[in-house]
Amino acid sequence: MNAFQAPKGTYDLLPPDSAAFLAVRTAIAAPLRTAGYGYVETPAFEHVELFARGVGESTDIVTKEMYAFSTKGGTDLALRPEGTASVLRAALEANLHKAGNLPVKLWYSGSYYRYERPQKGRYRQFSQVGAEAIGAEDPALDAELIILADQAYRSLGLREFRILLNSLGDKECRPVYREALQGFLRGLDLDEETLRRAEINPLRVLDDKRADVQKQLVGAPLLRDYLCDACKAYHEEVRALLTAAGVAFEDDAKLVRGLDYYTRTTFEFVHDGLGSQSAVGGGGRYDGLSEMIGGPALPSVGWALGVDRTVLALEAEGVVLDVPSATDVYAVPLGEEARRVLFGVVTRLREEGVATDFSYGGKGLKGAMKNANRSGARYALVAGERDLAEGVLQLKDMESGEQRPVALDAVVETVKAALA
Ligand code: AMP
Repeated sequence: MNAFQAPKGTYDLLPPDSAAFLAVRTAIAAPLRTAGYGYVETPAFEHVELFARGVGESTDIVTKEMYAFSTKGGTDLALRPEGTASVLRAALEANLHKAGNLPVKLWYSGSYYRYERPQKGRYRQFSQVGAEAIGAEDPALDAELIILADQAYRSLGLREFRILLNSLGDKECRPVYREALQGFLRGLDLDEETLRRAEINPLRVLDDKRADVQKQLVGAPLLRDYLCDACKAYHEEVRALLTAAGVAFEDDAKLVRGLDYYTRTTFEFVHDGLGSQSAVGGGGRYDGLSEMIGGPALPSVGWALGVDRTVLALEAEGVVLDVPSATDVYAVPLGEEARRVLFGVVTRLREEGVATDFSYGGKGLKGAMKNANRSGARYALVAGERDLAEGVLQLKDMESGEQRPVALDAVVETVKAALA
């Protein structure tokens, strides 16, 4: 092991690439802020039962992928593998649902942890921005969330993504379907583990990525043919609202997703430039989750978008984000007096919002100008003793190489005007 190697399945975000991550997080959050979602932050770990009960005892996330551990005090905790259960737990703990203003709309941004087999687009620590609307059953809320995610991706410049949509039914119709599907799966030639899954969580088998399994699933009963009238009407309304909003989607009768808490609306955002890890985001309605974790009935809907994969999707489409430059102006002092004066100018420029850096460490002109170049700054501000005696600084255009003296007492305005 190399002493500087990050753990398997993790990676560091470093400049300049880290700027794109920040921009993606900001862009995903922007539509949520304009739609009444408030920011929520929860701990990176929770009691392990929250996820066992919430996400589901039969899911891969809980059985295989959770970073679970006992503390020295004997408490069983787990690093959060997803955000929804935690956010709902936090809302219940704070009684947000009793404040009389349902739905409670929350958004979050953070790191999540799953012990998965790492590959491109799949990590053991990854970053999501998510949104949850808690405590209301209204197809407009499901549509709102899908529209907001669509807006977020579009605002980033993403085009080659698709929205897959399905309904998983509710506690009335899903059990009937579940039985029909189980009957079908029992007749197939499946390995033991898959047969076991068919008994515990048959819908998950539909999600099996293996071609030989998918071949056998042709002709499997589909939930859409089993939806009760209420679920059917609800789903049609979601579809109609999306269509009216001009948001294109594809009906995907086999979309089930890997978490047990979903009911009715489920959706996934997939990007075609990403290979096997094509899901950039997903979500759905989870009307039973609150009761599963011991709370009151609170029908809710939400999504989480993967920041890592969104960045990969942008790369795949060749979209370069317009991130503000790290350094607009680089100050190069020549001599002690110039150092003091220029340092003051740097502080004033920064106060005015101009991204400014300074040549530290007493470098000579040549070394300092090399750093100015590497910083990507548009202008260098150079000052020596003779300049100061004349009350000026030299403003050098790093693109053209041209240099002109500017009055020291007007330098902030001059630089701002030059950059505008
Ligand atoms: P999920 O909670 O599984 O529905 O995931 C929601 C989104 O989070 C996915 O669409 C991915 O973009 C992202 N995501 C989930 N797991 C990982 C992972 N192991 N590595 C990177 N991104 C992930």
